[in-house]
Amino acid sequence: MQKVDYIIVGLGIAGLSFCEKLKKNNKSFIVFDTSKNSSTLSSGGVINPTVLKRFTKVWNADLHISEAIPFYTELSKKLSISVLDLIPILRILNSVEEQNNWMVASDKKGMSSYLSSKLIKNKNPHINAPFGFGKVLGTGRIYFSVLLNAYKEDLQNNNLLISEKFEYDLLEEVDDVIKYKDISAGKILFAEGISAIKNPFFPQDPKHNGKKLLIGNKGEYIIINAPDLNLKFMLKASLIIIPLGNDLYKVGTTYERDNYTNNTTQKAKEELKTKLSKIINCSFDIVDQIAGIRPTTRDRRPLMGTLKESSNKVFFNGLGTRGFISAPSLAQNLYNHLECGEELSYETDIKRHYHW
Ligand SMILES: Cc1cc2nc3c(=O)[nH]c(=O)nc-3n(C[C@H](O)[C@H](O)[C@H](O)COP(=O)(O)OP(=O)(O)OC[C@H]3O[C@@H](n4cnc5c(N)ncnc54)[C@H](O)[C@@H]3O)c2cc1C
Repeated sequence: MQKVDYIIVGLGIAGLSFCEKLKKNNKSFIVFDTSKNSSTLSSGGVINPTVLKRFTKVWNADLHISEAIPFYTELSKKLSISVLDLIPILRILNSVEEQNNWMVASDKKGMSSYLSSKLIKNKNPHINAPFGFGKVLGTGRIYFSVLLNAYKEDLQNNNLLISEKFEYDLLEEVDDVIKYKDISAGKILFAEGISAIKNPFFPQDPKHNGKKLLIGNKGEYIIINAPDLNLKFMLKASLIIIPLGNDLYKVGTTYERDNYTNNTTQKAKEELKTKLSKIINCSFDIVDQIAGIRPTTRDRRPLMGTLKESSNKVFFNGLGTRGFISAPSLAQNLYNHLECGEELSYETDIKRHYHW
């Protein structure tokens, strides 16, 4: 029987961030992952501490960004790959009024480190932006496939990864010890993203007032080839355009709440194409399309920690639309909770749903 401190189910950005905390603290673990329905692998990988509809910060932006950037920088060094590109985001301003709103927001306490107070003129003839751009500071992009591939290889080389589906019905708990096939563990951490809706241990509706804790929010991107666009930054308007190199761009995304299917659709393709044609005026070809499901929650806060029934079964989920920025800091909170007895904040603790 192999003995470990933790079994981890799921290696998206949540599972990976938690593994890093375990490694740092010399805790032993083994990971199960199929890479199926991975939100991490279908995302944009954008690190953006702001909400560019309202020119405000995302939840806990200061804390999350202060942990995320060093986390990905350190991972790049450890894995000898480049994981993080600190590429800026320029937001198209649509009117004089929006220019003014941007300037007012950039002057607000706490926003000046995220919204540059200098407006930028548009010099690219293929972008429709007569009122120019506002520049978002502290942004970047994660090369998530490169990261996950390198991370998996590293785990595999150390016999820490089992690329198999975790079968919930084979899980046993005997005298506070978790047993699964020939592995025994002190705890099991479930980080399956939206697939957690199939986890019988994950709190589902009946016990909880008939309300779902985890809600799928489907998103689709198109990949375009646009040889004349020549974009060196991420461009945000009604969509985000992310340069991938070699004249390829990822363009998205759509939002469809309560949709758990991850097939690409003609409807999303048309929607993205129509919106894109209003932002750029050069020709482009759609060369690919991607769909994924975000693990979101009604109150837009994560679902972390344990339930009253079992303190050995741990959940790390509900990272929503901004998993890359929040996962490193949340993983630290979760680790401190499990191993150092620190309280989880009410808004992140899965137990908050017992108070309905
Ligand atoms: C279209 C789209 C665009 C997005 N864009 C961004 C963005 O630009 N920036 C940002 O910060 N966030 C973005 N997100 C959100 C972000 O991707 C998620 O918040 C994050 O990836 C969630 O990570 P996770 O580890 O919780 O889940 P996942 O990434 O889904 O990982 C779960 C893993 O668990 C595995 N698994 C599940 N069940 C089992 C089982 N029984 N046995 C073994 N393995 C299992 C799955 O195969 C998967 O690999 C986007 C999401 C989508 C869908």
